[in-house]
Amino acid sequence: MYLDNNQTIEKRVEDLLSRMTLEEKVSLCHANSKFTVSGVERLNIPSLNLSDGPHGVREEIGPHSWDPAGWTTDSATYMPTGTALAATWNPDLARAFGKVLGEEARARGKDILLGPAINIQRTPLCGRNFEYLSEDPWLISEMVVPYIQGVQEQDVAACVKHYVVNNQEYERFKINVKVDERTLNEIYFPGFKAAVQRGKVLTVMGSYNQYNGTFVCNNEFLLKKVLKEDWGFSGLVMSDWDATHNTLESARAGLDLEMGTNVDSYNEYFFGDSLLNAVKKGQLDEEVVDDKVRRILRVMFKINLFDERKSGSFNTPEHQSMARKVAEEAIVLLKNEQNTLPLDYDQLKSIAVIGDNATRTHAKGGYSSGIKALYEVTPLDGLKAKVGDNLEIHFAQGYEKTSEEVWGKGVVYTSDPVREQALIQEAVEIAKKCDVAIIFGGLNHDFDTEGIDRLDMKLPYTQNELIKAVHQANPKTAVVLIAGSPVEIYEWIDQIPAVLMGWYAGMEGGNALADVLFGDINPSGKLPFTFPVRLEDSPAHALGEYPGQNFEVSYNEKIFVGYRYFDKWNVPSQFGFGHGLSYTEFEYGNLKINSEGHANDPRVQIEFTVRNRGDRDGMEVAQVYVGDVDASVERPLKELKAFKKVYLKAGETGKLSFSLDRQAFSFYDINVSSWKVEPGIFCIFIGGSSQDIRLSHEIELIQK
Ligand code: BGC
Repeated sequence: MYLDNNQTIEKRVEDLLSRMTLEEKVSLCHANSKFTVSGVERLNIPSLNLSDGPHGVREEIGPHSWDPAGWTTDSATYMPTGTALAATWNPDLARAFGKVLGEEARARGKDILLGPAINIQRTPLCGRNFEYLSEDPWLISEMVVPYIQGVQEQDVAACVKHYVVNNQEYERFKINVKVDERTLNEIYFPGFKAAVQRGKVLTVMGSYNQYNGTFVCNNEFLLKKVLKEDWGFSGLVMSDWDATHNTLESARAGLDLEMGTNVDSYNEYFFGDSLLNAVKKGQLDEEVVDDKVRRILRVMFKINLFDERKSGSFNTPEHQSMARKVAEEAIVLLKNEQNTLPLDYDQLKSIAVIGDNATRTHAKGGYSSGIKALYEVTPLDGLKAKVGDNLEIHFAQGYEKTSEEVWGKGVVYTSDPVREQALIQEAVEIAKKCDVAIIFGGLNHDFDTEGIDRLDMKLPYTQNELIKAVHQANPKTAVVLIAGSPVEIYEWIDQIPAVLMGWYAGMEGGNALADVLFGDINPSGKLPFTFPVRLEDSPAHALGEYPGQNFEVSYNEKIFVGYRYFDKWNVPSQFGFGHGLSYTEFEYGNLKINSEGHANDPRVQIEFTVRNRGDRDGMEVAQVYVGDVDASVERPLKELKAFKKVYLKAGETGKLSFSLDRQAFSFYDINVSSWKVEPGIFCIFIGGSSQDIRLSHEIELIQK
C-alpha cells in the first residue's frame, strides 16, 4: 500500500513502518556517510541525500571524508548569502531564491537542503552572521517562510538551522546559553516557529550549544515540548554534525536523525547499535524509535521520494539572473552626499578601482556554506564589463589580505609595513589621476566564517589608512564594503561622501554593483541589522555578556537585541536597522488608521501613501513599527510588525495598506506562558528605517 500514491501520506507511512524490522528502523536514524542516510533495499526505500547549504548547493564531498569528491559537474549557482537576501526585504525574492536552491538540489540528486540558517544576529562579531538573516525576528519570519516554500515546492526538504540560540561561534560546541523564557519566545523562537507553522518546513537541525544546561540535541523542552508539541512540528529533527551526545537522552528528547558524529564506523553512532540494543534490552520503548522513523518516512513521502518527482535544473541562465536580481536589490546605499553616486557616464574619463575586495572571489569561503561556483563576477570584472572601452579603469590593490584563517586556531596575521605603505602609495597615485576613486574593502571569509567569531569590529589590515589617504588624493571617493556584518567606520565616515554595503553578493555580485554604481539599478536594499558606531555600543558587548565565561553566556540584554536596545537607551548608531538610501527620494503621507476590535482581538487597518518625488524610478521599503506606550512590563519603544517593498516610477504615488492583528500588539507573558495584548495606547510608527520615522499615530485598544 505504501507504494500507492492514491493513499494518504499517513496511511503510507504506517503501512511501510509496519513492514520494517527494528534493525531497518534504526538504520534510518543515523548517517551512513558524511551526508547520506542508508535506504532499505528490501522495501525499496531509497537512501536520503543531504547537502549544504543556505546559499547554494555545496560541492560534492566524501563520501566518508570532508575532501572534495572531485566531480566536474557540481559547479553551482552561488546566490548572495543570507544577510544579503534579507537586505532585499523582498519576500518574493526569497521564494525565487529558494526555488533556485530547490531546483539545483534536485538536479544534483539531493533530498534535503541544509538551509535556511536563521539564527538571530545577536553580536556583530558572530562568524556566521553572513549566513544568517537579521537581528529582527519579524524580518526573519517574513523571509524564511517563502524561502522554505520555494525550496520545498521542488520536492526537496528544507532544513531550518540552527535550532536554537546558536548566536556565536566562539565555543559553539560547549557554550551554555542562559536566556529567559520571554526573550526566547519574543526574539529567538519566532523565526523557527514561522518556519514550522507557516513555512511547513520538513526538517529542523538541532544546534551544538546547550540551552539552560542541556545540549540542544538532548533537550526535551526544546525538541519535544516546544517544537513538536507546542508548534505541531511533524517532520524530523536532525543533529548538527557531531552534535549528538548520547543515546537514551537524545532519543527520548526528540532527536530523530543523528548526523556527523565523529566515530570510526556508522554502527558506533549513538543512534546505531547502541539505539538498537537499548530497545532490545528494554531500556527504550520501540515506540520511541517508531516515532522517529514515522517522521523520517513522512519527510520522504512529502518530497515524493517514492513517486514521480521534479528533476530540477542546474546553473541555468534563469538561476544566474536570479542571483543577479537578488544582488541588485540587496545592495544598500548607506551614504551619498554631493551627488557622488551614481557615477555619470558622460562626465567621467577614468575610474580608480582600489582594494583587495575588488578582485577577490568569496564563493568558497566560510566552510560549510562555501560554494564551488561556476563563476564569480568580481567588482572589477563587473565594472570592466559595464564600461567597456569607453572609460579608463585603473586598478590598485591598495591593501593586502595578510591574514589566514586556520581551522581551530583562528586568524593568523603577517605584516610587511614596507609593502603595505607601497600599496597605499600606489593607490594614492592612481586616485590622483582619475576622476573618481572607488575602494572595495570590508571583510572576507577569514572573518565572516563558521567556527570562529571576529575578535573586534575593526576593518582589518591597513584599510582605514588607505581610505583616508585615497580620499585626500581624490575627494570624489566612494567606499564599498564587502562583508556580512557591520564594521567600525567612524574614523572616516564623516569625510567619505558615498558608502555602499555590497555584502557577499553571489556569483553576479560584481555586475550588480556596477549597475548600482552607475545608476542603471537604483539601490533599494535596507540594513537587516543595526550598524553600530563602535562594538561596545551594541547590547551584548555593552553589558559584557559576550562571549561568556566558563562556557556559559547569559543573554542579559533580554529582549533588547539590536535596534530594540539602541532605541531604549538612545544609543546613536552609525546606521539604524532598516536604513538604506536611494537615488530618488520618497515622501510619506495621508496616514489613515482604522482601529476595529478590542484588546482581545485587535484589527487595525493602516493606509498611507508613498510618493517618489525624484526624477528616477525606484523602490522603497516602507516599514511599520508598533510600540506599546503603557505596558505593565518593559517593552521596546517600537518593533517591526509589517513592511512592504514598492516600486514607484518617478513622480508616482503608491497607496499602501496593512492590517495588523493580535501578533503585532502582544508580548509573551511569563505568568501564563502565552501571548497577551494589554489594553491601552499603542503608537504606530511608519518610515523608511527604524531611525527615519515619517508618520506616527497613537491608537487605543480597549478591553471588551
Ligand atoms: C554546520 C552546519 C552544517 C553541517 C554540515 C556544521 O558544522 O554547523 O551548518 O550544515 O556542519 O556541513
